[in-house]
Amino acid sequence: MTIMLGCIADDFTGATDLAGMLVQAGMRTVQIIGVPSQPLSNDVDAVVIALKSRTNPASEAVIDSLAALHWLRDVGCRQIYFKYCSTFDSTDQGNIGPVIDALMDALKTTFTIACPAFPENKRTIFKGHLFVGDTLLSESGMREHPLTPMTDSNLVRVLQRQTKKTVGLIEHSTVAAGTSAIRDRIQQLQAEETHIAIVDAISNHDLLQIGAACSELPLVTAGSGIALGLPQNFRAQGVLESQDATQNLPQTSGLRAVICGSCSQATQAQLADLIARGTPAYAIDPMRLAAGQSAVADALAWAEPLLQKGPVVVYATATAHDVRHAQKQLGVEQAGALVEDALARIAQGLVTLGVRQLIIAGGETSGAVVTKLNIHSLRIGPQIDPGVPWTVSLGETSIALALKSGNFGSVDFFSKAWKLLP
Ligand code: ADP
Repeated sequence: MTIMLGCIADDFTGATDLAGMLVQAGMRTVQIIGVPSQPLSNDVDAVVIALKSRTNPASEAVIDSLAALHWLRDVGCRQIYFKYCSTFDSTDQGNIGPVIDALMDALKTTFTIACPAFPENKRTIFKGHLFVGDTLLSESGMREHPLTPMTDSNLVRVLQRQTKKTVGLIEHSTVAAGTSAIRDRIQQLQAEETHIAIVDAISNHDLLQIGAACSELPLVTAGSGIALGLPQNFRAQGVLESQDATQNLPQTSGLRAVICGSCSQATQAQLADLIARGTPAYAIDPMRLAAGQSAVADALAWAEPLLQKGPVVVYATATAHDVRHAQKQLGVEQAGALVEDALARIAQGLVTLGVRQLIIAGGETSGAVVTKLNIHSLRIGPQIDPGVPWTVSLGETSIALALKSGNFGSVDFFSKAWKLLP
């Protein structure tokens, strides 16, 4: 077995996003949660290791990323991909810069790119400035982010503050001139002892050119967009067959359920759509959980007779007003943790009742459920909406899981998702 591409993602749903992109581009892909302790037994072309290294202290992020790198090298990966957010979520302390430095040093490489562009999701880079839709990153909602406020859109400056290496730019005029122009510019930057280049990209065409120019780099660092452009390199080298990468997805059959812990506007609309289509729904109230009432057992007793007739949904999703109320009474962290724990235990109970096809809305919620279900790796299947593929857990029991980051997906996401499963 040859694993071509080894990826290290700095968060959970970001890993699923990247894995989904690789599958779409024709690579059979497995996502592993945390650094595995054993070699893989599956035949795959790419592996994505999902870390939680976006916002923890930089020294911890470096240790975890190096552990992931060692495992990926041990299983023979030809190229390493460090995946971060398309809005370059980080602070002056890191963690993108320190992790890139550590990976470059460990791989003994003196050059890599940094390109969070994802034009399909309206993240573009021009003259080194990152745009979110029509606005500069520094003027987008990201400037208010509680953990990683992005107040500078110039990524050369942003990354230079985080790294000991010299950061340069590959401008769009070079990218537009195509792969060999990008390669020439990489050589020039290396001669000038520039070690990391932010790369402009405003379209998928640009990503394909950049991907082709990176074929010989031991390390690529990017959002999920560049994943579009890498499989073609392995195909050109004759090591990757043209294939439908979703083909070997294990089949699942069993009951269906949805768990909603996201309170994003997108999830609120998707939940309303699901209920309007007649799916039975059960609401979890954080105040009842705090009062110690038996919400988990009640939800499962409610679901049991209904599951035989079709999917059910259990949700904590509430309006911003109601969430604020619960947070005021219970504290922000306590409210979140109570709800996550209850939804994870409900998911576990639903699996005991025979559910084998499960959709989970919410990044933190997905993490809590997957941990509770003791799932360590996922095979990646077909895309439901950009950034959200179906996956199937690998292990004793195969469970089909769609893990939706809160804001992703169209309004009819849930019904669309079911239609993709046999
Ligand atoms: P998203 O992907 O939309 O950010 P997450 O699952 O990551 O969704 O985060 C949502 C957070 O809000 C979770 O910690 C969840 O437990 C919490 N939450 C969900 N419903 C409520 C509620 N009604 N009141 C307070 N907190 C809630």
